Amino acid sequence: MSEVDSSCIFCKIIAGEIPSKRIYEDDHHIAFLDIFPAGRGHSLVIPKDHHVDIHSMAAEVYGGIATAAKKVADLLQSRLQSEGTTIFQMNREAGWQTVFHAHMHVIPRWSNDGLHKPWDIAPADSADLDALHTLLTE
Ligand code: AMP
Ligand code: ZN
Repeated sequence: MSEVDSSCIFCKIIAGEIPSKRIYEDDHHIAFLDIFPAGRGHSLVIPKDHHVDIHSMAAEVYGGIATAAKKVADLLQSRLQSEGTTIFQMNREAGWQTVFHAHMHVIPRWSNDGLHKPWDIAPADSADLDALHTLLTE
């Protein structure tokens, strides 16, 4: 019996109550085209069970999503002849998540596709790096 949230838009997609353009399915995951794509072929990989975000699931569940995303990335790359792939995955409002059923974005990339990294690159403060390293490893 799968875990479902009846108010969740992605659970409704899994149940077929909301239409989607499915491109991949296995026992525990589906992938479909994003309807507000960052680019051509932008797809979402989701677990069939309702899990809100990375922090609310077992590592094995996350690993399953990542494995499915790898298959979807290869499918998109081979069919669309994309030059690269960007995968990202947002968690909670502060992490830019807007649909609270965990998902991975798989975005085929081309060198001239005009997408930009969402942050400006700047060197870290070395004292901050030292302090963080201590905090995370002590
Ligand atoms: P996030 O901001 O990481 O939570 O991503 C949610 C994504 O779901 C966005 O890229 C939306 O464009 C996409 N999305 C929302 N509703 C649908 C839908 N009905 N079908 C396909 N993609 C959707
Ligand atoms: Zn859901």
